[in-house]
This record gives sequence, structure tokens and C-alpha cells, in this order.
Amino acid sequence: MSFNFTEENLYGVLRNVFKIDEFRGSQKDIVIHTLRGNHSLVLMPTGMGKSLCYQLPALLFSGLTVVISPLIALMKDQVDSLKKIGVDAEFVNSTLSKSERERRYGNIKLGRYKLLYVSPERFRKKDFLDVITRREISFLALDEAHCVSQWGNDFRPDYSRIGEFRELLGNPVTMALTATATPFVRDDIIAKTLIPPQEIKIFNEGICRPNLFLSVCKVLDEAEKFDLIYKKLVNCKKTAIVYFSLIKNLEKFASYLDIKGLKYSVYHGKLSPEKKKAVQKNFMEMKSPLMLATNAFGMGIDRSDIRLIIHGEIPDSLESYYQEIGRAGRDGLPSECTLVYLPDDLEIQMEFLRWKNPDGNFIKKSYEMLKTLGSTVNSFTYEELQERLVYKKSDDHRFQTVLNIFDMYGVTEGTLERDLKIVGELPDEILQQEYITKKQEFDRKRLVEMMNYAKSEICRRKLIYRYFAIDEVVCNNCDNCRG
Ligand code: ADP
Ligand code: MG
Repeated sequence: MSFNFTEENLYGVLRNVFKIDEFRGSQKDIVIHTLRGNHSLVLMPTGMGKSLCYQLPALLFSGLTVVISPLIALMKDQVDSLKKIGVDAEFVNSTLSKSERERRYGNIKLGRYKLLYVSPERFRKKDFLDVITRREISFLALDEAHCVSQWGNDFRPDYSRIGEFRELLGNPVTMALTATATPFVRDDIIAKTLIPPQEIKIFNEGICRPNLFLSVCKVLDEAEKFDLIYKKLVNCKKTAIVYFSLIKNLEKFASYLDIKGLKYSVYHGKLSPEKKKAVQKNFMEMKSPLMLATNAFGMGIDRSDIRLIIHGEIPDSLESYYQEIGRAGRDGLPSECTLVYLPDDLEIQMEFLRWKNPDGNFIKKSYEMLKTLGSTVNSFTYEELQERLVYKKSDDHRFQTVLNIFDMYGVTEGTLERDLKIVGELPDEILQQEYITKKQEFDRKRLVEMMNYAKSEICRRKLIYRYFAIDEVVCNNCDNCRG
């Protein structure tokens, strides 16, 4: 579907609705490309304005635009800001009461809304499919599209069914958007849409963040590490994040800061949803907050004055690392990103690697356990089930990976918290050692490249750009360039 429009239409909406004077970078080209009925993959650094690329065309298309977003926690904020500027937008996700959800479904049937935000999991619900397939869908936007890819971080099983969703919606014009995409992930996103690659135009805005000073500090033990981070935090006195891979180590560092009398907040995956929300809100509102976090913190954090990001432990890949430091200095002012490298920490990531890729025997064992437990499975906690499989090695989270895999392949339905049950057979595909070995090898290579970054004596930007297959670098803003 395409749409007749003029420059005046575009600028009219840009200025009158969004109150923005000019397009930035490729925004205008992307919008025009879309309104002419073409598909695209938009790669743009965080904070540059990806949302506008799909929101503006959405207002000009005649039918409904469906936005698939993995971040349930942010949907409400995104929709609220659209409502504020008078756009008829809404979201449907698992946080709604039944009556509210049905009210919104009713509205969809009545032809209301220009933009509808949903999570990929929504497409499992028959009542949703019933209402959505009755509407004319002009346009489909996939935000945070890297979640589609098994080869990227933040993989979301349901997201990989994106091609199927498109078909259900009548194959509308489609735009996938992300801030991080290696060539590998890029190809995977395109493949998963099931659109022929030659029909998808890639808009690559690069990943240039010249205001970030990149450095690595090698330390020999934990005491030296803690001292170094502490000194940097004391010097900085502005908004800062310290990332750790393990909650246990984060807590250890927190205790160290308690002794030193430095105030901080903590964010990780084990906090309750209410607590997470409160911590995020605080972080947004405090004058110069210090946040200790795992990688659970960040997607969607929209604070522009983060001056310092320290990684207390080496991340699993340059992809994760670049995404996490990308949260610094969005206002364009000088900001510092330091990786504290303790060679022993590699062991933590090696351990992660092992449980991220369980072998066929473990998968079978988990399947048999769930089958034997039947409906009683929901009276157990995750930890209790995990213990049955791995005998008290609490750092071994292979079972979590297996649960994700089962979910993705439709072996199970529901979650441990809510009616987990087996609904299908074990597909051969996931038991094949060939696939498992390939994935392990892939993850291992990513870790090696991260380690090479930590150890390198050449320009850090050059290494990152090489990883993302982008050439042309002017740096002069890393420890190695400055000598
Ligand atoms: P992204 O999704 O790429 O991280 P957003 O879409 O959330 O970024 O946009 C970040 C900020 O930039 C928003 O506050 C948005 O209003 C603003 N913005 C987007 N496009 C423009 C533009 N052309 N001119 C000025 N501000 C813009
Ligand atoms: Mg965005």
C-alpha cells in the first residue's frame, strides 16, 4: 500500500503534531520511502529519533499501524507521550485488567486508534487475533528489532515469529528498527520477516558516538578493582552507572560502598516489578544518581546526562558493551566509558556460555521432568526445579535457557508463575548437536572479540567499528589514541 503525499503534508505533521522543525539524518528519506509503500531496516544510534520514523507515516496512512515492542514497561510511557500531542494511540499488554483489555479490543473493532502498541507475545492470544485481523493494517513497525535474532542479545522467542505475524496482518508495509546490529543480526532480522531481502532497504545511520571517551583499566584483583571504581565515582560526582554481570558481585561492591559512605541505587533482574519501576523512576528524577546494575537495567532508559559508565566485569560481547555504553552522553557532552578488566572475570562469562547453550541430554532431562510433574509443576519455584536438574549448583541456569527454548518452539505454554504445561513434542531440531555446537562457537567468538578489545593496544573505536562492519573512523577519544 502506498499513499499520495506532498512535502507539505510531511512538514505539516512534523511541525504541527510533533512540534519539531526539521528532520534529522535520514528521517525524511525513511518516512518518504515508507509512505511510498516500501519496507526498511533502520539502524540508528539510540536517542537519534527512531520513533519518529514510524510514528509520522503512521499518522498519514489510512489504516492502523501496529507497533511491536518488547518493552512492556515502556509501552505506557510511549503511548502517553503520543496522547499528549493529540495522537490516537493505545497499547495492549499483560498489565491490563480483563475489562480494560476488552474495552480496547472493542475500540479496535470500531476502527479507533492510529497506532497500537503490542508485545510479540500478544499474537498468541486468539481474542487478539480475532479483532486485529478484522482491521485494515497499513503498516507494521518492529521496535528493538535485534530481539528477533537468536544471534543477538535480548533474544525474545516470540519475536522470531515476526514473519508469521506479518502474514496474519495482511503483509503490511514493514519497518524494523534497532540501535545495534552486527551484519549477522542484520541478516537474521531480514530473514525472520520473511520479506525477500532485495525488497528491504537498509538505512544505516552508523553508530558514531564521538563524545564517548573509551578506556580500559586492567586490574589484578578485586580489591584493586573496587578501589579504582570508587575513585572514579568520587571524581565524577555526576550521573553514573556501574554494571556487573553477577548480582552477587554487584552486592559485594554495594557493601564496599556502604563502608565508604557513598550513596547508590541498585537494579537487577531479581527485583520485583514494582521495585524496578520505583528505582527507574528515581534514577530519572534524582540530580546525580549512582546506579549499580546488571544488564537488566537500561533498555529504554532515557536520561541524557549520564556522564560515566563503568563495567566492573567484562560483558559477553562487544555488541552488549556498545549497547550499554550507548546510554552515556546522549546530550552530546563529553562522557566516559571505562571497562575494568580483571582477566579472572572471563571465567564468569565462560560459565554463562555453558548454561546459555545446554546440550541435548539436558534438554531431554528437563522435558522428562516437566512431563512427570504434570500439572503439579506450578507448585514448585524455579529454584526448586533447577535444583532437581543440576544438584544445587545455583549459578547453573541451563534450565532457564531450556524453558525459553521450549516456549519458543511451542513445546510448552504458560510460565512457571502461571500454568506452565507441556503442549507439544520435543522437536528434533533443538536436540541436534550440530546446532548447539554452532551456537556455542558463535558465542565463544563474541567473547573472544570482547576480550581482544580489553587487551588491545590499538584504537578502541576502530575495533568496535570493525566488529559492526563499518569503516571510516576518526577517534582521538580513547585511551590508546591519546596514548
Ligand atoms: P531512539 O528510539 O532512536 O532511541 P527516540 O525516537 O526515542 O530515539 O527519540 C529521542 C528524542 O529525540 C526524542 O525526545 C525525540 O522527540 C527527539 N527527536 C526525534 N527526532 C527529532 C528531530 N528531527 N529533531 C529534534 N528532536 C528529535
Ligand atoms: Mg526507541
